[in-house]
Amino acid sequence: MSTVLETEEHQVLRAAVAALGKRYGRAYLTRVVGAGGHLDELWTEAAKLGYLGVNLPEEYGGGGGGIAELSIVLEELGAAGCPLLMMVVSPAICGTVIARFGTEEQKRAWLPGLADGSRTMAFGITEPDAGSNSHRITTTARKDGGDWILNGRKVFISGVDIADATLIVGRTQDARSGRLKPCLFIVPRETPGFGRSHIPMELAAAEKQFELTLDDVRLPADALVGDEDAGLLQLFAGLNPERVMTAAFALGMGRYALDRAVDYARTRQVWKEPIGAHQAVAHPLAQAHIELELARLMMQKAAHLYDTGDDPAAGEAANMAKYAAGEACVKAVDQAVHTLGGNGLTQEYGLASLITAARVARIAPVSREMILNFVSHQTLGLPKSY
Ligand SMILES: Cc1cc2nc3c(=O)[nH]c(=O)nc-3n(C[C@H](O)[C@H](O)[C@H](O)COP(=O)(O)OP(=O)(O)OC[C@H]3O[C@@H](n4cnc5c(N)ncnc54)[C@H](O)[C@@H]3O)c2cc1C
Repeated sequence: MSTVLETEEHQVLRAAVAALGKRYGRAYLTRVVGAGGHLDELWTEAAKLGYLGVNLPEEYGGGGGGIAELSIVLEELGAAGCPLLMMVVSPAICGTVIARFGTEEQKRAWLPGLADGSRTMAFGITEPDAGSNSHRITTTARKDGGDWILNGRKVFISGVDIADATLIVGRTQDARSGRLKPCLFIVPRETPGFGRSHIPMELAAAEKQFELTLDDVRLPADALVGDEDAGLLQLFAGLNPERVMTAAFALGMGRYALDRAVDYARTRQVWKEPIGAHQAVAHPLAQAHIELELARLMMQKAAHLYDTGDDPAAGEAANMAKYAAGEACVKAVDQAVHTLGGNGLTQEYGLASLITAARVARIAPVSREMILNFVSHQTLGLPKSY
């Protein structure tokens, strides 16, 4: 793997996380998922080593790095077969939003726990009737004295059962224009009126997805993160790291699958040479490797732009990185399964379940088509069809 774009610190971090991932590996994840459990041991150990809070400010217990470092952690755990999906939401979205826009009190209340892994925060924006069109979300917050009252529904929200709270994207009404504007609220898990029901998914993952109902959820004034009038800016401060982290998730999974396929192709022999000697087997694996490497370049660019404070450029790059990594991952997994022949579908090799898992990176948090729309309109200036 080329590391020319990474500092020595980054390379040391990569190697250390890879070593941790190797100690747990796919067998750990398979065991936990089979038992219906959570990845608590890995989460706690990664946190203790400072990896989960590597992007959070040092004064609140974090590592003082950025999304570049956090994406390295997720990619390497994924490449070892045991990605921590909640890293995409807890330190990356919620940690970033609170660190950038939270009050001093919110920072003190949440960041040390998010950094040392003792607390986790989920993130809820998707709604059943809005889907990809987040301008259409209808979860609404209204003021009641000093409190906020939230009503609405969310769907596919990951990890709500294990998260201490969920950062909910809602809307408040602008007193002057009457227009609804996005706002972010910290909703503790056991708040009355905050209901969740598990959505059974065809995914072999420890993190579960939930449909949420917010039924007159009463929150104190300080549940609102940041400024009521700067909602969109604050939201995107969290969504760009989310896209970079989804790229890291996809890259890790793609690398894991590709490694399994390469190992297999090196040794599996049904004619006089191992199957990896046949170019029909080798070339698609080489292509998958090239595409993963290219996607990583884009991810590094996006992370760099974000960490250096160029939010608009980071937005475009993070979308492109998510697109490239999602597509590279889907292709690498598909080719890996094919390389193993019948064994690609056995539980013993455990690759077939990645076919579904890889599709997550194509759909969430923003689908392939919505990224192509974004690039068509924003980058190329083409007209909109919707
Ligand atoms: C495993 C998993 C975990 C998730 N975790 C979270 C989470 O923690 N928090 C959260 O908020 N959300 C989460 N999501 C939700 C995810 O972000 C959404 O599924 C995603 O944004 C797509 O929304 P949708 O499913 O409603 O699809 P829809 O918006 O209904 O889209 C369906 C299809 O139509 C296409 N489409 C829609 N509009 C257009 C258009 N204008 N042009 C072209 N094509 C279009 C889409 O690309 C897609 O292929 C998760 C999803 C999954 C699968």
